[in-house]
Amino acid sequence: MLPQDLHIHSTWSNGDASVVPEQTIGLIAELHHARVVGISDHFELVGEDCFEEYSREFRAAGLKVGMEIDGYRWESAARSTDADYRIFHCYDRNADYKALDRLLEMDQAVIVAHPNALSTNLDRVPPECLVEINNRYIWRCDWRSFYGPFVDRFEFVISSDAHQPNWLNQTVARHVAAELGVREKLLFRT
Ligand SMILES: [Zn+2]
Ligand SMILES: [Zn+2]
Repeated sequence: MLPQDLHIHSTWSNGDASVVPEQTIGLIAELHHARVVGISDHFELVGEDCFEEYSREFRAAGLKVGMEIDGYRWESAARSTDADYRIFHCYDRNADYKALDRLLEMDQAVIVAHPNALSTNLDRVPPECLVEINNRYIWRCDWRSFYGPFVDRFEFVISSDAHQPNWLNQTVARHVAAELGVREKLLFRT
């Protein structure tokens, strides 16, 4: 069993065409593929008004509550919600690096989502952020040269970014982390 998987989408990411209708809370909870399972649907698709209902459903299923925030425009609304951790799309824009500083002020984990897929400049990311190695995107880059220089600067989390039941694994991401000599930061006690 995986130690943790905190980047998972469910049918709450309504509008993300990659999510299949079978990717339900019930199925994700039932598969129990990791000791700690957290859901992080797209914040802008869940909607600020529905976030409480979203949280309730996942907590009732024994899952941690996260969200995936698409850049600085959503940062302030995302901070007004009650979640266990936050995953952030940090595009290479001044406003996004500043948004990371404000998210860190909340004293909860801030995970920088798949930086290689967004051309995030890791030199500009505060070292208090956690960096994600993500099974969905990690293989799409020369990961040794992209992540290698930063293995001592950051702590890392490994995620699936699953949108479908058969994506609920971390095989490639774990291989890359082992090659880089990264020890995963576990966010929650089991
Ligand atoms: Zn993403
Ligand atoms: Zn995602």
